[in-house]
Amino acid sequence: MSELELKPLSPRRKSRQIMVGNVPVGGDAPIPVQSMTKTDTRDVDATVKQIYDYAAAGCEIVRVSVPTTRAGEVFHEICARSPIPVVADIHFDFRLALVAADGGAACLRINPGNIGGQDRVKAVVDKAGEKGIPIRIGVNGGSLEKELLEKFGHATPEAMVASALHHLELLEKEGFYNTKVSLKASDVIRTVQAYRLLAKQVDYPLHLGITEAGTPWGATIRSSIGMGVLLAEGIGDTIRVSLTGEGTEECRVGHEMLRALGLRSGGFHMVSCPSCGRVQIDLKRVAQEIEDGLKEINHEHITYAVMGCVVNGPGEAREADLGVAGGAGEGRIYRKGELIRKVAESDIVSAFLEEARKLKAEHASKA
Ligand code: SF4
Repeated sequence: MSELELKPLSPRRKSRQIMVGNVPVGGDAPIPVQSMTKTDTRDVDATVKQIYDYAAAGCEIVRVSVPTTRAGEVFHEICARSPIPVVADIHFDFRLALVAADGGAACLRINPGNIGGQDRVKAVVDKAGEKGIPIRIGVNGGSLEKELLEKFGHATPEAMVASALHHLELLEKEGFYNTKVSLKASDVIRTVQAYRLLAKQVDYPLHLGITEAGTPWGATIRSSIGMGVLLAEGIGDTIRVSLTGEGTEECRVGHEMLRALGLRSGGFHMVSCPSCGRVQIDLKRVAQEIEDGLKEINHEHITYAVMGCVVNGPGEAREADLGVAGGAGEGRIYRKGELIRKVAESDIVSAFLEEARKLKAEHASKA
């Protein structure tokens, strides 16, 4: 290979496949995008509404925390009304895990080393086995076991992997292998190193995430780099982008990340130029409003282009299924390379979205 040739993405790491509800995770299954509800779990209506919003934004598996007995009591209602599989997020209290499993959880997120003894691990494993649901071990760099911190000095990648192996061993002792693992640290390098280390040692599917990644701007960058490196190396079977922001945005970022690496298709692709001194329309507003409208239209496998001027604009706009190039106070709309409309700047967004809807309707009638 010449130095100029790009190295392709590495082949996917071979992992065993598990099922989270009806969604396969691992093996050669598409990489599902997950998110976590941010409502008070006891408020069933608010939580279910949020799950529907997430699902509309592309969420395929949702995690719901079950922190209290009351949350445990209503959890079954959430599962019954959710359009996507629900993972119960449990810390420390194994009884809540049993309640959640009975309530319809599609997976339990619980660390068996933190629930107070092997008899409790056995109770959870027996219940998960009876219900046929997997367990996710979620190692978090911020809450590693004291002994490991003493042994390794701090939350090193090796310490995180040792923690994961310890939790796995407790499940394996009970003959339980229906497991997936996450190893989240708040910094990218440690997370990448930890996943690389674990990926060599086990064949369990891996759930990727950069935890406490921050507000949307920084977290999107850190998540894209951290998970992007791992996914490009073939590591990772499901992802969750964590943002201090909207869960729907987490899902969109997750899908875009997978699409950028060619690991998922679907959705639409919108290109827009950065604008420059040649721009003659309010491109930032126009592009944002068009993108918001396109999310509603949600026409899969379509490329749109929103370009600022007629210098480079028409070229890109012609390449796209539907494109617009700004002119002096106007916009030219192109469909499959043909100029179909010229509209005033104030009408660009509405005219573009009208054409986008038409295109979708035509494709639907031919399908
Ligand atoms: S399309 Fe026009 S406005 Fe946009 S960056 Fe290129 S030259 Fe500048």
